[in-house]
Amino acid sequence: MPGSVNGTVRLDLTGHAALVTGAASGIGLACARRLAAAGADVLMLDRNREGLQEYAPAIGADFVCVDLDDAAAVGALEVTADIVINNAGLQHIAAVEEFPVETFGYMLSVMVEAPFHLIRAALPGMYARGWGRVVNVSSIHGQVASPYKAAYVTAKHALEGLSKVVALEGGAHGVTSNCIAPGYVRTPLVEAQIAAQAEIHGLAPDDVVREVMLAPAAIRRLVEPDEVAELVAYLCTSAASFITGASLLIDGGWTAR
Ligand code: NAD
Repeated sequence: MPGSVNGTVRLDLTGHAALVTGAASGIGLACARRLAAAGADVLMLDRNREGLQEYAPAIGADFVCVDLDDAAAVGALEVTADIVINNAGLQHIAAVEEFPVETFGYMLSVMVEAPFHLIRAALPGMYARGWGRVVNVSSIHGQVASPYKAAYVTAKHALEGLSKVVALEGGAHGVTSNCIAPGYVRTPLVEAQIAAQAEIHGLAPDDVVREVMLAPAAIRRLVEPDEVAELVAYLCTSAASFITGASLLIDGGWTAR
């Protein structure tokens, strides 16, 4: 395809500094790779030190090992990036009446409060430079609900709201803020969900993917982390400067019906 390299579009983020959370696995790792390949200086954040040590050198990225639930540690981070990718997240499957209260709080802390702190710390620098990109990795569950995912659905809906507020405030300063909303992505987070859902529904793991997770989708396959990272990287370019306050679905038509 003209204008593409190895199936990916040519994007130039030279001179930009990107911070990616949850960068030791799955979508975050794919984003770190893609942004670095586009020329950005990448800082990978995760609580998984082994993953950071394994992947960061090949990407040519710096890394910080931090638990995003640790408000003091997050507050102590010096955030100089002009691209912030809030990606770290986790899932817990349980009925509302059985949902562990601590787990609910932890998930909101990691998936809503930490993005708030990081964006809050990054904005003054972005405003000073008159340019910034915030991409929040939401989910189809930022748009619609599913049973047994109370904390996740709550957190993603909240993240969508935060993202829109940042878009409204940042617009005059050259800062865009968007959510991307993937369907089911082939990552360790989904592998764990397949096992949990198989137990809840009493189905074989393959049947869970086909009959439960992807039943509403037009394209019944898991989306790859690299496909999601490509969309994230595009939103970070100057070409995407008019896309803000949006939530871009990448769900194979899962929410179309
Ligand atoms: P993943 O489990 O492969 O990676 C998540 C990363 O976040 C891990 O490296 C983990 O260590 C890190 N993380 C989790 N809690 C953390 C904490 N407290 N502090 C620091 N790091 C922490 O998952 P993934 O599928 O790549 O998910 C990434 C994001 O994409 C999440 O926000 C998830 O909700 C979202 N998402 C995933 C899917 C999917 O199907 N996989 C679909 C839609 C949205």
